[in-house]
Amino acid sequence: MSGNKIFAIIALAASPLAAQNGPAHHAPKPPKSLRLYIFDCGVLKPADAKSYGFDKVAELKMSVPCFLVAHPKGAMMWDVGVVPDSDFKGDGSPVSQGFMEVSKPLKPQLEALGYEPEDIKYLAMSHYHIDHSANANMFAGSTWLVEQAERDIMFSDKPAPVRTEKNFSALKDSKTTILPATSDYDVFGDGTVIIKPAPGHTPGHQVLFLKLPKTGPVLIAGDLYHYNEERNTDHVPTFEFNKEQSLASRAKVEQFLKTSGAQLWIEHDYAANAKLKKSPAYYE
Ligand SMILES: [Zn+2]
Repeated sequence: MSGNKIFAIIALAASPLAAQNGPAHHAPKPPKSLRLYIFDCGVLKPADAKSYGFDKVAELKMSVPCFLVAHPKGAMMWDVGVVPDSDFKGDGSPVSQGFMEVSKPLKPQLEALGYEPEDIKYLAMSHYHIDHSANANMFAGSTWLVEQAERDIMFSDKPAPVRTEKNFSALKDSKTTILPATSDYDVFGDGTVIIKPAPGHTPGHQVLFLKLPKTGPVLIAGDLYHYNEERNTDHVPTFEFNKEQSLASRAKVEQFLKTSGAQLWIEHDYAANAKLKKSPAYYE
């Protein structure tokens, strides 16, 4: 055996250890059945509700939750916050930027459950706006589940509202699955985690339907609505991509809620979100 060959064999054998650099991380054992964890990813404090078509709403503040869907076949993140973890000073102080206030970075909340970003198989976001995509780069190693129209506006040269490209720029090279624009996508193939197109707020806005074994069916609505007051009205935000599409998506989802019996969770509904269990507690 030549010297070169021996060197190659040693290098091959040593590389997995060298790459680890410290004790090996073991991803948490997948749960036996579907679980949903909710993280606190901050609060939005708009000055008024006029951009949403209201002079007054019961609660002006908006919650910003992030979600970890833990399925027996893998984990998926759904919506990843309003402020990237890199904006935190690391001294435990909260981040306050304009109308955005965040007290906890996302990664430590994942790590408290034993997950590292590389343990997350799929990244899906309801849409690209800053308050749903801030930590997208953290999951650039996951498979990104997105509609073509949404990906197009994210990386378009033309201006787009509420877009902070630097927070999701790494997704450009991520392994990507383009989801159908007009039909449901069954993430794990067993009907328990379904991404449904609900365009209008953005070109490829989507909502998440979960069939939780004990909690029952839940629909996490992204920004189909911001305030509960928007339900049963034609009020949509002033920065809506396509109002007619939004109203059509809402009608479709409301019909689906009736036939499926699913609970509707409006992500930004502060009062409703405050009542939900937060990680490490979970829904199953
Ligand atoms: Zn939002």
